[in-house]
Amino acid sequence: MNHTEFSAKSNTIASQYQIKYEAFFEQARKQLNCPHCQNVVGFKIHGSYSRHLYINQFIRIVIRVIRIMCTCRRTFVILPPEIIPFKRYVLNCILDIIKQLRTHTTYHIEQQTDITISLINYWHLQYRQWHRTLFETHGLWVQQASTEIAISYNNLRPVRRPMQIISAWTQPFHALFKNHIV
Ligand SMILES: [Zn+2]
Repeated sequence: MNHTEFSAKSNTIASQYQIKYEAFFEQARKQLNCPHCQNVVGFKIHGSYSRHLYINQFIRIVIRVIRIMCTCRRTFVILPPEIIPFKRYVLNCILDIIKQLRTHTTYHIEQQTDITISLINYWHLQYRQWHRTLFETHGLWVQQASTEIAISYNNLRPVRRPMQIISAWTQPFHALFKNHIV
């Protein structure tokens, strides 16, 4: 694929992703509760911003995501299951790498995906530090789709998302539901 074909493909993926995001937003807004105060009514759209997303090492897109303000005056962004807070790579890509680490060396994965060994090791460390116990205790790997994993994870650990960096203070995120379009 030459460069022009490649950017045309990225643009197509970006507009498909944007359409999916907006459908998700329309569904999610009907079921929202504020991750700060648990309020369920009176939300207002409080702007939007550009969000970079890496589908893989080669396909990188930008979509617009929506910020909401609650009556408690705090704001939060609406993120579908595939978008990990503060990470550019999508969940499906990162979980795929974590899964491959069981049977392949980091070097092999780097060769296959072009994602650097240091980034793979960084994700693996975060997984082991904050997420592995919950994944293994509740058998989350049994589910194939990353969106399903994200919904189950979020049900088990409200206001958190899989592969999110969890520090002493971590921004809370709204709940994910099975009947969202994902
Ligand atoms: Zn609130």
